[in-house]
Amino acid sequence: MEGLEREKNLRFLKSLFKRFYEQEALFEKISAIKYREFGFSTLEARMMIRHLSFENENSLVKFLSEKVPADCYRSTAYYLNPSAMNMEEKEWLGADLVFDIDADHIQTSCKKRHDRWKCLDCGENGYGSAPENCPKCGSKRIDEKAWFCSECLEAAKMETVKLLEFLDSDFGLTDQEISIYFSGHRGYHVHVESEEFKVLDQDARREIVDYITGLGLDPSLHGLRDVGGEEYLTKILKFSAWAERLMRNGYDIILKYGLEDLLRIGVKDKVALNIIKNRERIIDLWWKGKFNQIVGVDGKTWDSIFLEAVRKGSVLIDTVVTADVHRLIRLEGTLHSKTGFRKVKVLKALESFDPLKEAVVFKRGEVRVHVYESPDFRVGDSVFGPYSDVDVELPISAAVLLICKGLAHII
Ligand SMILES: [Zn+2]
Ligand SMILES: [Zn+2]
Repeated sequence: MEGLEREKNLRFLKSLFKRFYEQEALFEKISAIKYREFGFSTLEARMMIRHLSFENENSLVKFLSEKVPADCYRSTAYYLNPSAMNMEEKEWLGADLVFDIDADHIQTSCKKRHDRWKCLDCGENGYGSAPENCPKCGSKRIDEKAWFCSECLEAAKMETVKLLEFLDSDFGLTDQEISIYFSGHRGYHVHVESEEFKVLDQDARREIVDYITGLGLDPSLHGLRDVGGEEYLTKILKFSAWAERLMRNGYDIILKYGLEDLLRIGVKDKVALNIIKNRERIIDLWWKGKFNQIVGVDGKTWDSIFLEAVRKGSVLIDTVVTADVHRLIRLEGTLHSKTGFRKVKVLKALESFDPLKEAVVFKRGEVRVHVYESPDFRVGDSVFGPYSDVDVELPISAAVLLICKGLAHII
């Protein structure tokens, strides 16, 4: 993109973002706002300004409409002096427990369709996630054009559903303590505001991360290797939520996995064929806790099945975000500069929440843009593209998305 086109895009985005923050930014209440640190990146230089604080929502909204940031953040932590320049002077009082689930961390098959990469040295290129090194010349200078689609967002949503189950059944949190947000880009944020969790230090939060990601989880320590019958199993399931999760996912694996899936998780082909042939009988013994009576399924196979059950049961959270007690996260209600969508609270059942509708803000008007290259995509109820080197008139929300992604410029 030429300098002039970049300049035009910037001016266009700035006027839209400004109008949004002047007129439409209805913020929900940010709890203990004056104890939070705020940070912003600018549209012009993409510089990060932090260590700011605000007395109330009004002064924050005034700041946003004057400065028109590209992205807005606030601390998950509470500080006595949030605008102090270093952590010691800030005086940490506690922090919300937050989770970040991003489709970027989830291996979805659609990435092969909509992500592209190009070697900046030799020009070699391909579809899917970018390789570490260029397969042709070995260069590390690789430009990646990552996209996100409904399938990516659905995968992130499914991970979030799993996380919510952990927070409810394993941690005993109530709906009032949990807020779910679409991040405005590729995933979801879950905020927990609870007195018990607020005071946890980094190590304690790492333990929570390990628990939810199933790191180092040993099924035998949850009683699931030498189960001696139904009564014993019932006791275990009462004692460990993970045991219940492993049983449920193990059931799914035995009942639904085809030959290819079983081989992929490390089951030998003879055993896999035996499982497929005797699914019903195995499931019956499975729920009765009689693993050792299942003929033709050896210990190694159970290990593979349980390992896969751990993978299916665990949640792909960003581990750094949750463990960090000084984290800045995207501010509720504000715009994401990579999409022009906003971070929005999920107020209905997550399963029926459509981020490509609920997070759209620029709903009126059309604009002409030149699109370099874009896969097909949906905004609201409309599907656009794919485009390649064409001038098109698009609804503003769709045009903003392409501009934010660096795939188009205003004509
Ligand atoms: Zn190369
Ligand atoms: Zn996708």
